[in-house]
Amino acid sequence: MSHEDGRICDLLVIGGGASGMTCAIAFARECKETGVSADIVILEKNDRIGKKVLATGNGRCNLGNLDMEMSHFHSHRRDFPKSVLSKIPQQETLSFLSEIGIVTVSEGKKLFPMSKTSSSVVDAYRYALDEYGITVVPDAEVTAVRKENVFTVMCTGGKCFSARKLVIASGGACAPILGTTGDGYRWLSELGHRVYAPKPSIVQLVTDNHVTKALAGLKLDADLSLLADGIVVANHYGEVLFTSFGLSGPAVFQVSGEVGRRTKKGRLSIPMKVSLRIFDESQLLSVHEELLKRKESMADRPMEQLLLSILPAKIGLQILKSSLERPLSVPISTLTDSDIRKIENTMRAWDFEVIGTQSLEYAQTTIGGADCEEFSEETLESLRIPGLYCCGEVLDVDGDCGGYNLQWAFSSGILVGRSVADAFTREKGKN
Ligand SMILES: Cc1cc2nc3c(=O)[nH]c(=O)nc-3n(C[C@H](O)[C@H](O)[C@H](O)COP(=O)(O)OP(=O)(O)OC[C@H]3O[C@@H](n4cnc5c(N)ncnc54)[C@H](O)[C@@H]3O)c2cc1C
Repeated sequence: MSHEDGRICDLLVIGGGASGMTCAIAFARECKETGVSADIVILEKNDRIGKKVLATGNGRCNLGNLDMEMSHFHSHRRDFPKSVLSKIPQQETLSFLSEIGIVTVSEGKKLFPMSKTSSSVVDAYRYALDEYGITVVPDAEVTAVRKENVFTVMCTGGKCFSARKLVIASGGACAPILGTTGDGYRWLSELGHRVYAPKPSIVQLVTDNHVTKALAGLKLDADLSLLADGIVVANHYGEVLFTSFGLSGPAVFQVSGEVGRRTKKGRLSIPMKVSLRIFDESQLLSVHEELLKRKESMADRPMEQLLLSILPAKIGLQILKSSLERPLSVPISTLTDSDIRKIENTMRAWDFEVIGTQSLEYAQTTIGGADCEEFSEETLESLRIPGLYCCGEVLDVDGDCGGYNLQWAFSSGILVGRSVADAFTREKGKN
């Protein structure tokens, strides 16, 4: 369908991602319930909808989390996510998903579709969009947005669409390979909205890499603390992966937002370090005993064998190199009490100086975006441009790793869909 013939659609959604598809379906349902017909169009830059959803949760789609502590959501307007999520709480998003055919199960606290495949989530959305007669225009890359009497939206190739209500659901600026290149920020700025500069979150950390490079590809479970100017600002227990540029893995992703937030134009505004505790105190007691034993039983062996089987070989070697200031060719018999203390201290707090995060290209979510203060927390309608709404990652809200970003996309998408439907049916009633 082309709108070049001058037809004005009732709702135009830019972005066929998690929040845009949710919003369009929520709107269509409300209209159906009130018996009002509506012409709804989604413009999607990619050749198909939901490409990013397909990539979520390593293809398993971690679509929510039973731990709904508000500290998992971040925004320059601290209370804004809470306000939206209290209007459309998790239970309501799960009902919405179930009604379009997505049954969820929990794995620990994380929620997944029962199929554990993200493609089944995208399929369910595709069928629902079809069922409600929502027009999806793929390969429609929006280049500009204007507001006069109605909204006019220009696409590459000269296509042009007009609408009474416009939703910008074009996502953030991370993972541009999946279509999200921060375009929405530009249109919103041009329309007079304030936009916080995008920064990466849920992303790898770049650290002083002389140790991580030597260990690239190896993983270990650790209690990770992130310190800013010596003060712990985040802590998470989980897997840490060493890479040629620094640190990756679930525990690192979980704290990475705190680094992103302290970064300006790619540089840290405060010294930061990651500290890994690889053994707790009771485990360290047995390590202590074992090292004393080895001083006798392995007396003539070289020091580089001291942590044999206590840690993976390469990691053990790096712990020794970080702790002792002498060649590891010396015999274990030379081990002193002070050496043992130093080794144990490294296992308690193995420090890596943080240089920054990897770029937006590698991130799973975007810190920053359209300032929430300029949107109604009741409806998510722009307080500057009547009839314009935003949902999902384009707004300045980001969640921790663990399903919080899709939760935000669903909740904000439903709220916008319902709010637009409310306004639309009221206006229709007047005419
Ligand atoms: C690899 C990866 C894994 C992730 N895993 C998880 C996870 O397991 N759990 C979780 O909660 N979150 C996860 N996320 C984050 C989550 O996917 C996003 O926060 C969420 O999809 C945001 O929804 P959205 O609708 O705002 O944007 P998106 O889903 O990104 O959708 C925006 C859409 O707008 C389109 N678009 C952009 N610009 C234009 C334009 N100019 N014209 C037309 N269309 C345009 C894009 O192509 C895209 O389809 C992951 C992200 C990545 C990159």
